[in-house]
Amino acid sequence: MGVSEITARIGAAARKAGRDPAEITLIAVSKVQPLDRVEAVLAEGHRVYGENRVQEAQGKWPAFREKYSGIDLHLIGPLQSNKTRPAVELFDAIHTVDRAKLARRLADHAQERGQSPDIFVQVNTGDETQKAGCALSEVDALVTECRALDLPLKGLMCIPPIDEEPSLHFALLAKLAARNGLTGLSMGMSGDFESAIAQGATHIRVGSAIFGDRVKPA
Ligand SMILES: *Cc1c(COP(=O)(O)O)cnc(C)c1O
Repeated sequence: MGVSEITARIGAAARKAGRDPAEITLIAVSKVQPLDRVEAVLAEGHRVYGENRVQEAQGKWPAFREKYSGIDLHLIGPLQSNKTRPAVELFDAIHTVDRAKLARRLADHAQERGQSPDIFVQVNTGDETQKAGCALSEVDALVTECRALDLPLKGLMCIPPIDEEPSLHFALLAKLAARNGLTGLSMGMSGDFESAIAQGATHIRVGSAIFGDRVKPA
């Protein structure tokens, strides 16, 4: 479909919700996509990308960064504690902070480096047992911890359960963010970003609608 069509749909969804489209960042999710597809989107001028694995991103983005300036790279997949250092070095934002231990490690590396990626706390809004994200009952405490560590906390992120109406989860995330004085909302993917925008999304993560179906599962 391409970035320009998605941008037009973002504009329409924002206007319908009485919002300024400029408040919404389109993260083009490039995980497992062939490099030529990613490069085509870079060449069109899009600069904000999302990856869900540190190692895959390390193999891809340093070379793109040499060739294209202004790349803004977001980690949107689960982060293991032993990958926090390379994650802080490579990414401009991390959307998947879901436990205090991870926040502390990120804060340590950020302090050594003198700069930190923007941080989002991932919330398991469906309280699903297998799913990443902090429990609903722990969100406020984790937000407090991130602030105490001086991390640049921008907002909350969620991935709704696949078999439930996403807008209910988006609305819940918005409520949790407001309660904590946070304005960033990382929510909405190819199939539901318009509904996420209606609920206040500031960062939408769109993969297959831009690049086509992923060649192998992520
Ligand atoms: C893969 C992925 C996306 C993008 O999914 P699409 O349905 O291809 O748009 C968004 N968010 C996360 C966390 C993902 O892992």
